[in-house]
Amino acid sequence: MITKTPKNKRQQKQGMLDNVMRQFNHAADIIGLNANIRKILEVTNNELVVHFPVRMDNGEVEVFTGYRVQHNNALGPYKGGLRYHPTVDIDAARALAMWMTWKTSLAGLPYGGAKGGIQLLPSKYSQSELERITRRFTYALGDNIGPELDIPAPDVNTNPQVMAWILDTYMSTKSPNERSKNMHVVTGKPLGVGGSEGRDRATGYGVFLSIRFWAENKKVDLKGKKFIVQGFGNVGYWTAYFLEKEGAILTAVQDAFGSIYNEDGISVEKLLEYSQANKGSILGFADAQAIENKDFFGLDCDICVPAALGNQITAENASSIKAYLIAEGANGPTDVEAEKILLKKGIDIIPDILCNSGGVIGSYYEWLQNRNGEIWHLEEVMEKLEKKLRGSFSKVLKTSKERGVDMRSAAFIIAIERLEQAYEQRGIFP
Ligand code: GLU
Repeated sequence: MITKTPKNKRQQKQGMLDNVMRQFNHAADIIGLNANIRKILEVTNNELVVHFPVRMDNGEVEVFTGYRVQHNNALGPYKGGLRYHPTVDIDAARALAMWMTWKTSLAGLPYGGAKGGIQLLPSKYSQSELERITRRFTYALGDNIGPELDIPAPDVNTNPQVMAWILDTYMSTKSPNERSKNMHVVTGKPLGVGGSEGRDRATGYGVFLSIRFWAENKKVDLKGKKFIVQGFGNVGYWTAYFLEKEGAILTAVQDAFGSIYNEDGISVEKLLEYSQANKGSILGFADAQAIENKDFFGLDCDICVPAALGNQITAENASSIKAYLIAEGANGPTDVEAEKILLKKGIDIIPDILCNSGGVIGSYYEWLQNRNGEIWHLEEVMEKLEKKLRGSFSKVLKTSKERGVDMRSAAFIIAIERLEQAYEQRGIFP
């Protein structure tokens, strides 16, 4: 059966690929990127689409579609998350894989970029169905992933448990002697099966640190500043947690179910407890009022953290934004047209490939520990993460000043120049 994608979902997916291409081309034009290298980076290296059957709890069989797109591996193995969401398709995977290439390059990691996932709504399935879906998807990916080839990680609606199932399935298909060598086939694992301290909070901590570095640079005190967060998953929660600890006040949250607001502040811990007891939804939280989704981005606040899906800030709502800083916890939350409006209004944007790079940096530390048979303390991971991110942030600020460009263009320039250098030094086979 061929089903038509509803128009708003179609716009989001096409929008993401269009967006990342426009961002790439803009930066490539500024630096006058070598035309041959541009041809390479404009397309993805490999694209895998798999259809696989899974038996549901009621005995029926359902066929799922999974994706893994490997954009580029000039700097190292492909790296990037797997998302479980109805908007996952080939264009979404392509766009997200490209962002991973720029993200790992900017962070100075020995990785390339990939992304994938399954087109489904996880809330429709039981835990044991999700386990069978994940295991069968891993089996279908086969040797297209691997600890030195392509290393998946959590993304939207996937978590350490999903990573543990991937690890177990991947290892179970290897010979006994190979198994112990494969721990680093996936990152974001639970602590008990090779996960790293701090990986759970790494993305949100990175978003928070980016905001703190920005504030230090602008001589802004975060104490008492009001912030709003779209998405209350792993990234949204941990960002809010660290901002609240710094003295900032969470005044509104939006998730897939709706939006809530309290100008006097929402307790991050209480909201987490409530949403965990309420099937992951924030709606109905007693210490805040429900508001219309369309009014969310226009709320009075200082900092806005989109930490959900792509293409949320568009030309339609950009001019209503009152925050003076947007910190992109999500991948591709701001489209190119919206960005023009925001920059004209003097609003700063910490771009996704910098702002949420704490996640993949945390993954890198997990991968290194697995590879070397080491176990690091939480403090060690967090200190290393802070140092690394501070380095990227300063580089972006410096490039932005030197070239007279916005932070996203600066971040892309650094990422692309590193890849350009790699291609110039390696040459093209044969
Ligand atoms: N899914 C995360 C991202 O978009 C993490 C990827 C990773 O750790 O490999 O950056």
